[in-house]
Amino acid sequence: MRYILQGFLILGLTFLTQIGGVAWLLSLSMPRRTLRLALFALSYLVLWAACLWLAPLGGRVALPCHGTGHATGPLEMRSWLTCALNRNYVTPDLKATLERTAQTMQDRHPGTITQVLDANFPFIDGFPLLPHLSHKDGRKADLALYYMRDGQYLAGKTRSPLGYFAFQQGPSDCPRKWPTLRWDMGWLQGLFPDYQLDPQRTRDLLAVLQADPAIGKVFLEPHLVAEIGANEPKIRFQGCRAARHDDHLHLQLAPRDG
Ligand SMILES: [Zn+2]
Repeated sequence: MRYILQGFLILGLTFLTQIGGVAWLLSLSMPRRTLRLALFALSYLVLWAACLWLAPLGGRVALPCHGTGHATGPLEMRSWLTCALNRNYVTPDLKATLERTAQTMQDRHPGTITQVLDANFPFIDGFPLLPHLSHKDGRKADLALYYMRDGQYLAGKTRSPLGYFAFQQGPSDCPRKWPTLRWDMGWLQGLFPDYQLDPQRTRDLLAVLQADPAIGKVFLEPHLVAEIGANEPKIRFQGCRAARHDDHLHLQLAPRDG
């Protein structure tokens, strides 16, 4: 029984952070629980730092986490937790694209902060960043939507702490069908502040992504696309089985040539 529990723990930590399972395995060499937890924390920290150096060898780089929550530049990670869990890695191409996009948005609307939510793990093509099945090659990332209150843009703020799960409600043609990743999380919705979507910035962001040849596709829920009046051909519906995209926006690089 103990071995099964340990197995689940290692698997869970691996799927959550990619390196957590290895850190836990290392900690098992300690006889007492407190020592084990201490070695786990230390191993995790060392492995986390090592990723910053090792991931570029395999073609992924970390999106910088300093400044998270302090809005020091046009692009930032939404949450330090995403960084701590190692979910902020992308290919150098995608990093450059995100920086370019955020800079353009800030040029058009001074003070605009573009925030990245989940990206990818540091290693291994094909290893998905659950629950995002497609975030497995460093070429995909999720962006927070832009919000406002009483018509005023809220720089660096999202309705939910992680940027996910605070859905903008609207009509949908999706039937309620199992299995699905299309969670509604109705029980959570009342907890989030009632910010409104910033239609101007969101529309401009979509136009910037449309104009960038590096970008292949963008996923956003059809009712939001209709609401803000965007009709860029790169904006697609992700399908009814995938997660809702009216709490965030997903983008991915265009396929490589050849
Ligand atoms: Zn995504």
